[in-house]
Amino acid sequence: MTNVERRKFKGLLEAKEALVSGSLCNRGEIVIQQTPDAIDAVQMAGEREFAIRNLDRDSSMLRQIRGALARIEDGTYGVCQRCEEDISPKRIHALPWARLCIECQEEMDRRKTPAYDAADPITA
Ligand SMILES: [Zn+2]
Repeated sequence: MTNVERRKFKGLLEAKEALVSGSLCNRGEIVIQQTPDAIDAVQMAGEREFAIRNLDRDSSMLRQIRGALARIEDGTYGVCQRCEEDISPKRIHALPWARLCIECQEEMDRRKTPAYDAADPITA
């Protein structure tokens, strides 16, 4: 990967980091409301669960983005963390925070290791 490309991905990842961390802050605290109405209570519990799931997802997203930024700094960006082959340009464009090549990712998926690849056009 050239320096120009690395800089491009760095800018991309930083923009994404700002976006995700901004949405994490804006969401504020997850409030637990008391309600006398049982139906409302059920609905609110559902919404709370949804908010927590989003929060989990964004936090793990943020970890992945920061991990990718760290790899840009130490020069290992774009290289699979498992087999040390280059991650294909197609994949790195679709998922700039990808830390595994597609073969390793698929193998990890088969082992049911949780991986955040929601933006992956193949699985979306
Ligand atoms: Zn690999």
